[in-house]
Amino acid sequence: MIEFRQVTKRYEQQFTALRGVSFALGRGEMAFLTGHSGAGKSTLLKLIMLMERATAGQVLVGGQALEKTPRRRIPYIRRHIGVVFQDHQLLFDRTVFDNVAMPLQVTGVPPNEIGRRVRAALDKVGLLKKEQLNPISLSGGEQQRVGIARAVVNKPPLLLADEPTGNLDPALSSEIMDLFREFSRVGVCVMVATHDIGLIETMAQRTLELSQGELVHDGLPAALETGH
Ligand code: ADP
Ligand code: ADP
Repeated sequence: MIEFRQVTKRYEQQFTALRGVSFALGRGEMAFLTGHSGAGKSTLLKLIMLMERATAGQVLVGGQALEKTPRRRIPYIRRHIGVVFQDHQLLFDRTVFDNVAMPLQVTGVPPNEIGRRVRAALDKVGLLKKEQLNPISLSGGEQQRVGIARAVVNKPPLLLADEPTGNLDPALSSEIMDLFREFSRVGVCVMVATHDIGLIETMAQRTLELSQGELVHDGLPAALETGH
């Protein structure tokens, strides 16, 4: 679903944010992306979302090499990628239902189909009963689950999350991670960027670690690989 082949990203002033990064993540696979602040996590996600272009090497999403993607195709490709942000970016001037429905309205899905899909997404995150509330009245964990419902309402084959639990306590963070794992079980490819090492270790999932733009680890968290 995602493949990086020797990807290098250099910003202006010759700053190299990613250097020769290679990995592949398949359908139904889930991986964490970790590393200190400035290691290149956001840059890697931006390359997948076509918000930035690689300077060298190849990024493939769904088997398609992104460097050949014409500008007009970018919105179409983005539609197949669900994105969850730390601050969930919900709109507080409309209901939970309408927040989740937004990606469908943009693409012109018929109203009865919108209702069905929004409720299916809210059901998956356990918020079916709250569809008519304003998200401002929900807890932080619930707001993040609305953000996840909105990210998956299109049923994207690929789900990216950038520090999705940055504002949540450990118990709520685990719940959110369990949700991501459920999506990977039904075939969604999930990549979660986080620097929460404690959370990563409790999940025992594949972890890609960046350090100064280089991929320095790809496997179970180092603490688990040694057998402890
Ligand atoms: P992370 O998400 O791991 O904190 P980033 O991908 O945001 O890392 O940043 C990696 C490095 O690239 C940092 O040193 C950052 O300052 C630099 N960087 C990020 N975006 C830009 C940009 N648009 N222009 C120049 N340098 C950038
Ligand atoms: P339908 O396929 O009729 O639209 P649902 O929306 O309830 O019905 O989804 C059917 C199945 O597809 C569910 O088991 C669901 O978990 C799974 N599924 C596949 N991809 C995704 C995705 N990206 N997000 C959410 N569910 C997905």
